[in-house]
Amino acid sequence: MTNKSDDTVGGRYHRLDLKADPSGEARNDPDETGQTGFIHSFETAGTLDGPGIRFVVFLTGCPLRCLYCHNPDTWHVRNGSPMPVDQVMSEIEKYADFLIKAGGGVTFSGGEPLVQIQFLANLLRRCKQRGLHTTVDTSGVLGERMTDAMLADTDLVLLDIKAFDPDIYRQVTGGKVASTQRFAKRLSTLAKPTWIRFVLVPQLTDDYEDIEHLADFVAALQSVERVEVLAFHKMGEHKWEALNLDYQLTESESPSEELIARVQDQFRQRNLTVF
Ligand code: SF4
Repeated sequence: MTNKSDDTVGGRYHRLDLKADPSGEARNDPDETGQTGFIHSFETAGTLDGPGIRFVVFLTGCPLRCLYCHNPDTWHVRNGSPMPVDQVMSEIEKYADFLIKAGGGVTFSGGEPLVQIQFLANLLRRCKQRGLHTTVDTSGVLGERMTDAMLADTDLVLLDIKAFDPDIYRQVTGGKVASTQRFAKRLSTLAKPTWIRFVLVPQLTDDYEDIEHLADFVAALQSVERVEVLAFHKMGEHKWEALNLDYQLTESESPSEELIARVQDQFRQRNLTVF
């Protein structure tokens, strides 16, 4: 797969990742055939990451460095456990009939699941062959890696847009927003069902004008089924400390009810369905 990282992420990513992984493997499938990949963990009864009850597969590897990341332990591919596709499918198989009957399915999250792109492609294909609803939870920053065939095997995309303005996006994530915007437009053109996710952090992502621009952008997309405004909280802070990383949001508060309502209203004013 083409490595788009030079175009899609900022210098901060290169500094951090190259330091940790000079080979650059942190950005790609360790096994190019994608028959084996690295898994952080599974969640067997997720209810937040797609419709119904979800079996969630957390893959390791992420090119971004979001200040509020809950899972910095997923950033490097090799932080996960190596696992063949067949073994992942065996885990899913234990719940497959139940998931189908319950109107749920399988969600691939991370980290950034598009890092191990061929592994993800194989898993999506196998899940579709099994008749499972599939969801991919992504920042979209590596969206150009996702082929149309992979998207055909994906029933729903959870697209995390972390800010609209490039400077704010870079401040929040260390990366560039343009590729996420391109991916969002492609999903719209393909009429791929999409849920937009936006993490609201006071003093960081709550700029009124930026959210106006984001809401305009989202409202112009044709296949957005809902927008989720997610309130920031410091759930992952202890992981940053354990990894000896500098957590910069120690002083940040969760957004107030009023702020959440204001931001939700900004999306609702564009006739978007907001949660
Ligand atoms: S995209 Fe997700 S996993 Fe990656 S740094 Fe941001 S919050 Fe963490």
